[in-house]
Amino acid sequence: MEARLAAASAAGTRFPIAPSLSCSFCKSAVDDSAAVRIRTPGGHNRELTVFCSSRCRDCVLALGALNPSVLSSAGFLERRTLLTDRLLELWRDGKGPDPALVLMAAERARLGR
Ligand SMILES: [Zn+2]
Repeated sequence: MEARLAAASAAGTRFPIAPSLSCSFCKSAVDDSAAVRIRTPGGHNRELTVFCSSRCRDCVLALGALNPSVLSSAGFLERRTLLTDRLLELWRDGKGPDPALVLMAAERARLGR
């Protein structure tokens, strides 16, 4: 995981520098040298998503990892939507659980470990 992120940010150094970057999660302005980048999920090969901090990156990755399977029951989908909406609200306020831990738990649950 970390290696993939490192590769993504290394790839980012070859990109033309955008005049102004903003965090994909909290929308704050991002200094290019401090930006955290990940490959855009479902995007083209070299498309990168920019974050102001690893916390914002973890929030987005955790919410993505919590996305239920399309085969989940309606009840589960409903509860999961409530959970992710609440987490999004808390994280946007700078509150709530550590997104890195939520991400780890969500990935573990998805892999059934
Ligand atoms: Zn941010």
